Amino acid sequence: MKAAAKGIFKLKATGKVFNQHADNHENLVPACAPCNLLKTSYSLEMFRKQVSLQVERGRKSSVNFRTAERFGQIQVTNAPVVFWFERYDTQEEAKP
Ligand SMILES: [Zn+2]
Repeated sequence: MKAAAKGIFKLKATGKVFNQHADNHENLVPACAPCNLLKTSYSLEMFRKQVSLQVERGRKSSVNFRTAERFGQIQVTNAPVVFWFERYDTQEEAKP
């Protein structure tokens, strides 16, 4: 990683909290490791935006993505980014 080589970014478990404003219950949700790494300290809406940009980034930077898309192995849906807990909340509200 270029940023790590420049000393700009290091992933090191220290137990310290660097973004105190993001260390609260409203910003804590169970997440898989890749999503947790992508989210970093983004707000939920910034994380949603970052997820929504992944297709264009893949198209722009990955020949594998473009090849898979060209051969119909990937079908882009442009579906809105809805997180599991948003679906879960909606399902819970719909229950009688
Ligand atoms: Zn995930």
